[in-house]
Amino acid sequence: MIQILILLLIPFTIFASKVDTYRVQKGQTYLTLLEKQKLPLKRLYYDLDNDDQILTQEIKAGVHYQILHSKNNQIQQVLLPLNEELQIHIYKYKDKYNFEIIPIIYTKKTEAITLKITRSPHYDIYKKTGSTKIASAFVSAFDKSLNFKRDLRVGDTLVMIFEQKYRHGKKFSMPVLKTAMIEMRKKKHYIYLNKDDRYYNEKGCKVEGFLLARPVRGARISSYFSKRRFHPILKRWKAHLGIDYAARRGTPIHAAGSGKISWAARMGSYGNLVKIQHEDGYETRYAHMKSFRRGIKRGKWVKKGDVIGYVGTTGRSTGPHLHFELRKRGRAINPLRVVQVTTKKLKGKKRKEFLKLKKMYDKDIEFHIKNNTKYIKLPTMENECYFCG
Ligand SMILES: [Zn+2]
Repeated sequence: MIQILILLLIPFTIFASKVDTYRVQKGQTYLTLLEKQKLPLKRLYYDLDNDDQILTQEIKAGVHYQILHSKNNQIQQVLLPLNEELQIHIYKYKDKYNFEIIPIIYTKKTEAITLKITRSPHYDIYKKTGSTKIASAFVSAFDKSLNFKRDLRVGDTLVMIFEQKYRHGKKFSMPVLKTAMIEMRKKKHYIYLNKDDRYYNEKGCKVEGFLLARPVRGARISSYFSKRRFHPILKRWKAHLGIDYAARRGTPIHAAGSGKISWAARMGSYGNLVKIQHEDGYETRYAHMKSFRRGIKRGKWVKKGDVIGYVGTTGRSTGPHLHFELRKRGRAINPLRVVQVTTKKLKGKKRKEFLKLKKMYDKDIEFHIKNNTKYIKLPTMENECYFCG
């Protein structure tokens, strides 16, 4: 460990440079941040291509970023996270600043908790882990299909297995629930994350959210949600913060959930865009529309399933499709992973594959119940170098 630390510290001791950590302030944008740090706006923003400019809008208040200063206090490098997968890297080379988007380096750990209810799943998980994110990952997986208030008793058991990301020894981003079980009135209820990125219950029925499975009926997904992917032609890191549904021009688009329209007009590369605000800070976006349905405008309430417009290719789009986004409190999330209420059942080969996965998860759950797995809080590691990873 000591050797590693020495190795990590070498570049800093030689050049006597230092790393400072800053926080993105409320209301601060990428541009105002560049201004504040006296970095060149033209080279680091206005000269960028459209995709990169759009990505810089993903910067959120409260995020920590690092600046490497040289001995004479000049900025050498900046690392600024965009989401849990990608970060902006600004670096000085031959007296010029350069911009690139690179992956965030993190490690993933599979963690598990077993506990007996003393008050409520949210309270008890939070008490054990100190994390509201872990608690809400469990609760939101079950809260529309089960009634904890009515059926849960003190002493009932729950198990959850989830994946947690760590960056520089610290937890970061939402944990991903892999499988969970809760026993209520002697009946066990399960949920499993399948290979298709959707949640299923123990009968292999898809568990669906407050949102429609798809806002365009019968449409094929032509591009999945991804917070980071390497573009094979452009040879660059990109993100796709929504799902694309390929469909013929003019195909009706349905509101994925009930809510209030907060935008129905053109918006830059989105083209004709509708935004709907839903409960609990959720928002859906429907882009590249040919046209809006008559009467669809800001302030209007729509019900889940209502037609709001028609598939088109307005804005920056290469062919007719719906670009669909789901956001929670401004953050893009994968619509396929929003859980709840049982519907469609898996069949045939897909069912067989699911049952195999389920068997493996069931064994894990049994193991954790038997061993009464306690959640271990990992110690925070310090002195790790952000610019060496
Ligand atoms: Zn898209």
